[in-house]
Amino acid sequence: MKSPYQELKERAWAANMEIPKRCLAIYTFGNVSALDAARGVVAIKPSGVDYDKLTVDDLVVVDLSGKVVEGSLRPSTDTPSHLVLYRAWQGVGGVVHTHSTYATGWAQARLPIPIYGTTHADHLAEDVPCTAVMSDEAVERNYEVETGNQILECFKSRAPLHTPMVLVAGHGAFSWGDTPEKAIYNAAVLEELARMAFITRTLDPGAARLPDRLIRKHFERKHGKNAYYGQK
Ligand SMILES: [Zn+2]
Repeated sequence: MKSPYQELKERAWAANMEIPKRCLAIYTFGNVSALDAARGVVAIKPSGVDYDKLTVDDLVVVDLSGKVVEGSLRPSTDTPSHLVLYRAWQGVGGVVHTHSTYATGWAQARLPIPIYGTTHADHLAEDVPCTAVMSDEAVERNYEVETGNQILECFKSRAPLHTPMVLVAGHGAFSWGDTPEKAIYNAAVLEELARMAFITRTLDPGAARLPDRLIRKHFERKHGKNAYYGQK
């Protein structure tokens, strides 16, 4: 019998398969989830399954409290982090977590990624933020839930869909979007921005951030109300 969540699982599967394709992880690292907001369910990668063996049927469907609704495998151990974000943020339809190399390098250095160039400004109008390091008390509580809370804390005064990515200090990268396809796209963009910024800072440790006028110009031609980038 066909799953009532077939389309959601197919989209989550396809987005997960972008992780190895875009070189955002080795082995089983990384996971993507996709939300069906109307039904209040999320399809996510199962825990510890290799990408080359991953099938659509392996995807696990959970409700927003984390209860398994469909699937015989255990959902990703990071599922509670994803759910914290879905519960808190309207309009987010996909979440990605990776330990992609350059983004994680910045996360481990506990540094936001400076907005050095227009490639960055095409996607977000500020530095890629980096959360605070998790406290010992939080580590002892529900670690994965607290990872989500670390991100929420960092986004208290930010619009998640305006800045669709974050570095979790000492850990790795999270990104999201209104769809799972956009979320994985943002994960690949984050890794590329991290790589470019690393090169920039290596060549010139005192490199200047892009001037505000250029940031606004690039961000708004793609995302502003008068956006004119791409095809209509
Ligand atoms: Zn992780």
